[in-house]
Order: sequence, then C-alpha cells, then structure tokens
Amino acid sequence: MQAEIVTIGTELLLGEIVDTNSAWIAQQLTTIGLNLFYTTTVGDNLHRLTDVLRRALDRADVVITTGGLGPTADDLTREGVAAATGRELYLNEELLEEIRAMFGRRRHAMTSNNDRQARLPEGAEIIHNPVGTAPCFAVEEQGKLMISLPGVPHEMRYLMENEVLPLLARRFGLHEVIKSRVVRTCGIGESAVDALIPELMLLSNPTVGTRAHPGQTDVVITAKADSEAEAESLIAPVEATIRERLGFRVFGIDQETVSGVILRKLAEAGQSLAILELTTQGELALALADSASAWPGTFAGGMVVTDLAGVQRATGVRLEGQTALTQGWADAAAAAVRERLGADLGLALVGPANPAEEGQEVFLALATPAGLVREEPRRTRAGAWGRWSLIYSGLDMVRRYLTPEA
Ligand code: ATP
Ligand code: MG
Repeated sequence: MQAEIVTIGTELLLGEIVDTNSAWIAQQLTTIGLNLFYTTTVGDNLHRLTDVLRRALDRADVVITTGGLGPTADDLTREGVAAATGRELYLNEELLEEIRAMFGRRRHAMTSNNDRQARLPEGAEIIHNPVGTAPCFAVEEQGKLMISLPGVPHEMRYLMENEVLPLLARRFGLHEVIKSRVVRTCGIGESAVDALIPELMLLSNPTVGTRAHPGQTDVVITAKADSEAEAESLIAPVEATIRERLGFRVFGIDQETVSGVILRKLAEAGQSLAILELTTQGELALALADSASAWPGTFAGGMVVTDLAGVQRATGVRLEGQTALTQGWADAAAAAVRERLGADLGLALVGPANPAEEGQEVFLALATPAGLVREEPRRTRAGAWGRWSLIYSGLDMVRRYLTPEA
C-alpha cells in the first residue's frame, strides 16, 4: 500500500512559504503503516497540476493533496482532480447551502466566486470541514483514492486526524501501528551509547537508533505492530535493556527535559536551586526558567555575568590575588549564590567569557546543605553546541545530586 502527497501552490515553489504540510502528513501516514514513496509540489497551473495528479494516481494507491481549494481563480485543485480522473465538475447543492449558511453565521457577504467552492468532481464524496470555508472531498478511481484537503495547516491537520486517517484505516484495512519511545540520556556521547548497545542497533522490529544533541544523546526505539499494546510489548524489553546498560545516564523518556526533571525532583524534595553562569550567556537560566512555571518555587533565580568582576559584583565574593579563572571561583560563587538567593542548592558555571575560544577550562561547583560537589573542569567548544554541552554538564550535576542512586 503506497501513498503520495501533492502540495499545491505557486508560493510553495517560490519558497515564499515552507511546505510544512507534507512533512506533517508524512509523519501521520507512518502511524497507520502507509508507505510514502513520493511527495510532489506543483504550482497553480491547471495543466501541470493535472499532469502531476495523473502520475500520482498511476503509481500510488492513495493520493493526498493540500491547497488550492479556495474560491479564487488560482485555486485549481477541483479542476485538476476532475481532469486527472476524467470527470466533469458539477454544482453540489448541499455544499452550496452549507457555504451560504456559514457566511450567514459569520455575517459576511458571500461573493459570487464562493459558488466555486460548491463545485465537485462527479462522484466525489464530501469531507465536511467544520474548521474552515474550503470544502474537501475524496474521489475513488479504479480502487484508488484521491483526497483533497485545504492548504491552511490547522484545517488540514484537523481533517487528517478526524476524517482522513480513520477513513484510510477503514478503507484499506490498515491496522498497523507504529510507536516510538525516546530514551533520553545526558552526559554521554553518541558513539559511547552505540558501544554499549551494539546488538540492539541491529534489531529490525523494534529498530533502535541514536540522535545526538549537544550534551545529550537520544536512543529512539520504534516498533511496528497490529496494535498499540503489541507495539508497547515489543518496545518494553528493549527499553529495559537500554536502561540497564546506560544506567544513571538515562534521565527520562519522550518529551522530558533535564531541567524539567531537575525541577520536578526539587519540588518532590521541597528544595530550590539558584545558579550563577559565566560563559553560557544566560542560557542555563533560560533552560530552567522555561520549565519553572510547572514547578513553582523550585528555581530561586539566576545571575548572569560576563567576567570575574561581574562574579564579584553579583556575589560579593573576593578572592585576593586570584585574577585567573580557578575552581576556587566556582566554589565560592556556588556557595554565595545559594546564600544570596536563599536557595537549598547553588550551581556555578564559571569559564571564559568568550565561548568561541575552544579548549579552555570551565569550572563547575554545586553548593548543597551537605557541602560542595565538584567535577572535573570541562573544556569550551565553539558555538551553541559548545554552550549547550556545558549547560547540560551543569544541569546533570544537579540531576545526579538529586538522584542518589545515580
Ligand atoms: P483557502 O480557502 O484558505 O484559500 P486553500 O485550500 O485554497 O484554502 P491555499 O490557498 O493553497 O489553500 O493555502 C492557504 C494558506 O495555507 C497559504 O497561504 C499558506 O499560508 C498555507 N499553506 C498552503 N499550503 C501549505 C503547505 N503545503 N505547507 C504549509 N502551509 C501551507
Ligand atoms: Mg487559497
């Protein structure tokens, strides 16, 4: 069973808007086990549109189009589908009434070109669109199905989820489910992860793959099965093995973030965290502040500074005669920020101000009620990747402190 997507609109070809519809539809098709072999984008030109639709019908069992269903003369999808399937367009009274009623409800004057939207290829089945004005339809041609959806992304998504996916599953008896679990790790690189689970990377169902992010590696397990429960039972033992091999490096699954996990653990322990950062440009604070609204009272605040003078001003710390960055500055800053912001934990990340310089030392310290926790200094790497690697080093120190078994 094969599908093909055709996105319609000259503005897509000109690059004025990005074709997000086809990416989204492609992801949805995998969830019902429909293979996608081609995606085509075509402009608002009847001849080329008809040609593309004919080809799509030739080689696929299901063709999904988006766009070109509006009322204006350059909305040509109805004409294209009619021509590609050798049908006439006719005025559908039921649709016309619906369109009139909708304009009445919205108190908009209906213009004559709105009639165009009530025209359908003969034999087409109406797909009602409660979230927009453009009516949609499906045409069956020699056992194949061509489904035309609006271009507006939220309308298209609504109709896919509520009408088209159930229709496809029913019509083609598709019961296959594709389910993924993302096991999220911190502080371990992709190749090290790979080396710990080599035989799992060769499995075929579920498949196991890795995705590298700065300071983090995801392990993605994807199963195909006839039901959600069966897919889950394929995933579960593989997930258990991955957790066992990667141990404390695993911080969560799916949508979980390190900062979210930290703040949840802080909330459970009734504790709070304050931070001071030099080198990471406020992004450590951003990572925590982003999740903080879900866990009130856990993020006590952050100080963002750009040099040692800033550390002194923010914390009041003086280290006589120490003008270079040292572990001592991180230790003192962690204790001071904990104190000043009245938090249970104080994290300091102190490194060179210009993170574009590679290989320089960055010092980390975590002040806790039980004393200081230190780690080996990290090294700077250029750009956002380098900054986020440092941020996750700092966050991971807090996570492991809060997870005694780690
Ligand atoms: P309408 O009745 O609203 O005109 P339509 O079916 O004619 O609907 P288009 O006119 O082709 O749809 O597109 C409407 C808007 O939807 C476009 O201006 C664009 O912003 C968005 N859009 C269309 N196609 C896509 C696409 N493939 N990916 C992302 N956005 C799209
Ligand atoms: Mg339009």
